[in-house]
Amino acid sequence: MKNQGINQIENVQVEAESWSPQRVLAWAFTTFGNGVAISSAFGAEGMVLIDMASRTRKDFRLFTVDTEFLFPETYSLMDRIEQKYGISIERVYSALSPEVQEQTHGAALWSRDPDLCCGLRKVEPLRRKLGELNAWITSIRRDQTSVRSGAHRVEWDAKFGLVKVNPIVDWTAKQVWRYIHDHDVPYNTLHDQDYPSIGCTHCTRAVRPGEDARAGRWPGFAKTECGLHVIEPLPASPVSAPKTAKMGNGAA
Ligand code: SF4
Repeated sequence: MKNQGINQIENVQVEAESWSPQRVLAWAFTTFGNGVAISSAFGAEGMVLIDMASRTRKDFRLFTVDTEFLFPETYSLMDRIEQKYGISIERVYSALSPEVQEQTHGAALWSRDPDLCCGLRKVEPLRRKLGELNAWITSIRRDQTSVRSGAHRVEWDAKFGLVKVNPIVDWTAKQVWRYIHDHDVPYNTLHDQDYPSIGCTHCTRAVRPGEDARAGRWPGFAKTECGLHVIEPLPASPVSAPKTAKMGNGAA
């Protein structure tokens, strides 16, 4: 199935750039069946994707990497999603509980080495989850970070070795919020308290007037990504690069 999916994206990769997000989702569900899942941390973009998916296929798979350091508002939103859409969110955890992490790496690892903390609590569990799948669907947008600017609607994810689908990669924040309001989509109430981007409690603060939307993530560090969508050099990708588009991974 994995090889079948890889071969199929070779044919659609350039074409998909002109597809609507709904058509991209429908293609992913048809092509990969139960081998594809939406990955979400339930930001505004993720909520758009979840709502669109629910209108395309009722039993779609949705997973999240639960660092166990999320805001109460995020856990509450997860409950609302399960109720509204009638699905069960697949929760993926680090192999290390917060207590064992502290015993092993010392207290407040996020304040000393956030890359290691994200590696333990986000990247390792994600890699384990993606090992079960043939494709994953993300809600990244090109204008969120420089790392994400090269992402495409359908691409080969060289970092994790599967197909990556980014249906709203060319959307703006304005389009995201218009969709949320037009379709009465639930969202994290922290967005109404100057948290445009929401991660773990230890590494997220509200943004101040005039600041970038992601300025509240890892304040005090140059870090802008948790490592889930960082572009790595393309090794032996089984998919040919499209003629009109540079291949690469996006970011979350
Ligand atoms: S966002 Fe912060 S607390 Fe969460 S996994 Fe990364 S470094 Fe750790």
